[in-house]
Formats: sequence, structure tokens, C-alpha cells
Amino acid sequence: MAKKTIADVDPKGKVVLMRVDFNVPQDDSGAITDDRRIRMAMPSIESVVKRGGKLILMSHLGRPKGNGPEPKYTLAPTAKRLGELLQQDVAFASDTVGADAETKVASLQEGEVLVLENVRFNEGEKTGDAGFAAKLAGWADIYCNDAFGTCHRTDASMLAVPLAMGSKDKVVGFLVAKEIQYLSDTISAPERPFVAILGGAKVSDKINVINNLLGICDKVLIGGAMAYTFSLARGGKVGKSLVELDKVELAKELIAKGGDKLVLPVDTHCGDAFSGNCNKQVVAAGHIPDGWEGFDIGPETAQQYAELLHSAKTVVWNGPMGVFEMPPFDSGTKRVAKAIADSSATSIIGGGDSAAAIEQLGFADQVTHVSTGGGASLSMLEGERFQAVDVLDDK
Ligand code: AMP
Repeated sequence: MAKKTIADVDPKGKVVLMRVDFNVPQDDSGAITDDRRIRMAMPSIESVVKRGGKLILMSHLGRPKGNGPEPKYTLAPTAKRLGELLQQDVAFASDTVGADAETKVASLQEGEVLVLENVRFNEGEKTGDAGFAAKLAGWADIYCNDAFGTCHRTDASMLAVPLAMGSKDKVVGFLVAKEIQYLSDTISAPERPFVAILGGAKVSDKINVINNLLGICDKVLIGGAMAYTFSLARGGKVGKSLVELDKVELAKELIAKGGDKLVLPVDTHCGDAFSGNCNKQVVAAGHIPDGWEGFDIGPETAQQYAELLHSAKTVVWNGPMGVFEMPPFDSGTKRVAKAIADSSATSIIGGGDSAAAIEQLGFADQVTHVSTGGGASLSMLEGERFQAVDVLDDK
């Protein structure tokens, strides 16, 4: 069922406690190198500010130990950057639930924003401490979750805090609403044919995704180094390609379960060293010579996959088809990305490397949805339910 969003509540004069994902990359001097995560939360933030809400933002940054402040992980630079984006002063509290936060929360006026210090400086964030959660929830009239990247977790700010809100409003932000719409709603009632294309380094990372998607898709196309473990399972020769020997049995089971739904590469672009300048050859899948390594799907596979993607009505893509960071072994990934961009299907790009690839290739605005979460988007594709979202109000 759809969740209530921040647009469904009136924040005027009320305190809104919003969990965002300001876990931005920084350089050694602490300067933010990519503010995308802050920009992505802007629609929800602006929606509260413009309607006269008093907004408290909380987030984690990095992996501090949880026993007090660590300057390297302070959220102070994110508050400054948010102020620039909003073009208004943004207050910053040097603690999360301490005296400074308390004073600044009490003085918040309508349309003002306060960023609390990193929630993970407090042990209670990871332990889900009820006292820590009650303090945060006690300040707020409305709780909003717009931190998709953390939705698969049960940290206090994600779960104990909304639970501590009791009967007060608990809603999703626009970012989380959109992710759920595509990664869960569209996938559970897809227009067919529904084709998933999965790549990346390891079968072990994607077993649950493959299993879940085999249950709901019409075709699941496999690429990346993952394909060589499947090739071994079919008795193929993979040279010195990256494989997971302990996952060969599992690959056999997935092949048996998938039948014609599971589509494996028919050819492989290989090299004799891990370099774009190595000697190269294209061979039939399962015939990689000794001393050679598969680095990409071959051209015939790329063509077949592109055709299957063209005729699809719903497409999900997660994981590159080869070592896309090292041309010319980016060509399979490029071909697939272009086919998805050219198709009229509802196209959903899982987070992580496939999202990076589609952005890098300039196709991001030709697909329906590029997920912002790595682990969270994989968990959704695994069909997992998120407790942090389940506890929020239904429409
Ligand atoms: P993942 O994080 O599982 O989606 O894997 C992405 C990584 O898999 C990228 O860094 C790719 O370079 C790598 N990868 C994909 N195909 C291959 C391959 N054939 N051999 C080695 N690495 C690969």
C-alpha cells in the first residue's frame, strides 16, 4: 500500500523531524566532493520550509565508532552546503540530543532549518536505544523518512524514532516515495515482457536478487564476471576469469530453476592481462583458453541482450556487463545502456555501478528511474520488506 508523503501533511508551525541521507563523499580536507545526496533531499526539505514548517534534519555520515564526536565525520559541512543550496541560514547543532540541540530546537522559527550532528556519534543509534529515540521523537510533530540509502537498516533514527512517535504523523519524503514506487510497486505489477539484466563481479552478492527476479520476470539476462561461475556450472572452460568456485553448485540450482528464463552469454571478450592494452580475442562462451580472462560479454551476446531489452515493457538493470572502467571492455555495458535508453520500457536502474555507468554514458535522463541506494536498492530487488518503511503511515 502507498505510504503517506510529506505532501499529505500540513507542516505549518509544526516541528518536522526528517531523516535524510547526507552521507556525502569528502576529500582529506573535509570538503564535499559530490553534494548529490543533499540535492536529492531538496524537494522534501523545500516542501517543509516553503509551507512554514520548523525543520530538524538528522543523518549519519561515515562509520564513526559511536562513542562521541569524531571531527572527520561531522555534518557541519553539509549544513553549510545546504544553506548555500537553500539560500538561507541553516543552523547546526554540535550534538544530536544534547544541550546545544535542545536549545536550537527550542528557538526554531517557521521556515527555519536545523541540522543535528551525526546520529552515529551516539551509541543509541546503532543499538536502537529507546531513550535516544524518545528524545528525538519528543521534539517533533511530524516524522519524515527521506533517507532511501539507509531504509534497509533498523538504526534508531530509521525505526525506533518513528515507533516512538506513536500516533503522530509518520511519512515518507519524495525521494523514498519515488524509490518505493519503482523498486517495489512497478516490479510487483510489471507490464510484460519484464526483463531483468544483472551483472557485476559476484554471484554471491546477487543470489537473492536472481532468485526473486526469476520468480517475477519473463527473462533474466546475466553478464559480468558472474557469468563465468554459471559457465563453470555448465561445464565450460573459463581460463583465469574471476569465478566463485564455492558458488558453482548454487549456479547449477539457479540454472535448473530458471530454465529458459535465465539467459547466459553466448560469447566472451577476453584478454591476456588486466589492462586495456592487453591482447584480446572474442571466443564462444565456455571456451576461454588457459591464461586468458573474460572481461566483457562478446558482441553477439550484446546484440541478443539489446534485442531482448528493446522488446521489453519493463526493464530492471543492476551491475555492469564487464570491466566497464577499462575500455574497450566497457562496450557490452555501453551497448546494454544504450538499448535501455532507446527502449520505451519503464526502465529502472539499480544503484551502485550501473547507476554510475548510466550517468557516465549520459543516458540518465533517458531512463525512467535511477535508484540512489546501493544496498537498499539491492534489498528491494531481493523482494525484502523494510521495517523502517512499514512502520510509516499508509495513505
Ligand atoms: P558489482 O559491485 O558486483 O556490481 O560489480 C561491479 C564490478 O564488477 C565492476 O567494478 C566491474 O569492473 C567488475 N566486473 C564486471 N565484469 C567483470 C569481469 N568480467 N571481470 C572482472 N571484473 C568484472
